[in-house]
Amino acid sequence: MRKDVIELDHLSKCYGDYVAVNDVNFAIASGEFFAMLGPSGCGKTTTLKMIAGFEQPTSGRVVLDGVDVSAVPPYKRNVNTVFQQYVLFPHMSVFDNVAFGPRSRKTKESDVRRSVMEMLEVVRLVDFAPRKPSQLSGGQQQRVALARALVNYPRALLLDEPLAALDLKLREAMQIELKRIQREVGISFVFVTHDQGEALTMSDRIAVMSQGVVEQIGTPSEIYRSPATLFVAGFIGSANLLPGVVTSTDGVDLVVKLEIGSTVKVAKGDNDNFVVGSKVSVMLRPERIRPTSSIPANGEGIEGILTDLVFQGPTARLILRLANGTELICITDAWRDTPVQPGDRTSVTWERDCGYVLAGWPDRAGATTTNVDQIEAAL
Ligand code: ATP
Repeated sequence: MRKDVIELDHLSKCYGDYVAVNDVNFAIASGEFFAMLGPSGCGKTTTLKMIAGFEQPTSGRVVLDGVDVSAVPPYKRNVNTVFQQYVLFPHMSVFDNVAFGPRSRKTKESDVRRSVMEMLEVVRLVDFAPRKPSQLSGGQQQRVALARALVNYPRALLLDEPLAALDLKLREAMQIELKRIQREVGISFVFVTHDQGEALTMSDRIAVMSQGVVEQIGTPSEIYRSPATLFVAGFIGSANLLPGVVTSTDGVDLVVKLEIGSTVKVAKGDNDNFVVGSKVSVMLRPERIRPTSSIPANGEGIEGILTDLVFQGPTARLILRLANGTELICITDAWRDTPVQPGDRTSVTWERDCGYVLAGWPDRAGATTTNVDQIEAAL
């Protein structure tokens, strides 16, 4: 049976007039890997600090194991935090760094030894126990910091962008490693990141946040396949967002007249909110659309000029520019020949169930991941 370790009960945090966290309300289960994901300034670190006790909520409660701890100081909460800057004691060995917590609680030395070695086993650093932090790589230091935070088996481990200081390859390897460690110790991990790939790789569930508000909570595949809002659609992976208006609906499909002129049919899914006249966006994930050199007979497709074709190893990335300047991204299998070349008139088509309808219009139509300045500003 699901048991909640952490409950955030209508939690808000204001700094003066500024609402950094706005009515956040969710629970994290025992043994769950839970990510809070969102762009810089969305309130994820503030939420994490309220769980840890480093910030006091303006309103709402933090409940740990069924007990309201909102007024309990950090050191009395049975959670531990690992920050991006995992400061290890430089003069102490790996063993002594991990042993620091249990020793300061006056644990018997034989028990300290057993639990430290057990944890070094989990993070695969037994052979490194006598070394000093300066004799370790960045990834190894990060694993010492994890061992140090986990050695007392807290009810939850809170991680604030712990991989941000590592370079890409190591970060990717550490994502797999972190997930393995979490599975092995069975402790709930609450992980804060602005990196959607990181959140998708490791999490059981993700809370996507924007401007202090939780936009959606779901499994990685739920939020990728069925985003609740335009923000989530654009923030998780890349999406082609095409604004339009619903012109008819037959219970199964919606017919949408797109701003760019074409009319497309999209499966309605579970959503009953769309009626004739609704302003909607059709989301097409780049890997769900196909380029062709001919206009499809059923009229379902979008026509433009192929402006870019980039080989990326397993996939190829195509950019199609429509007559009104909107850009679409299409990702194809690089092992197959692409039927079009840059400069060619090109259409993209898709199976009926590949389109997905969202309420509202985006600020900018087309692919969400082509504007460098916008993306940089968001992160
Ligand atoms: P980042 O990834 O950049 O850390 P974040 O999503 O973790 O972003 P928070 O650190 O939670 O964001 O901050 C949320 C908002 O609250 C930001 O606009 C930030 O400037 C503001 N904020 C955070 N701490 C304080 C503070 N002590 N005083 C005033 N404003 C603050």
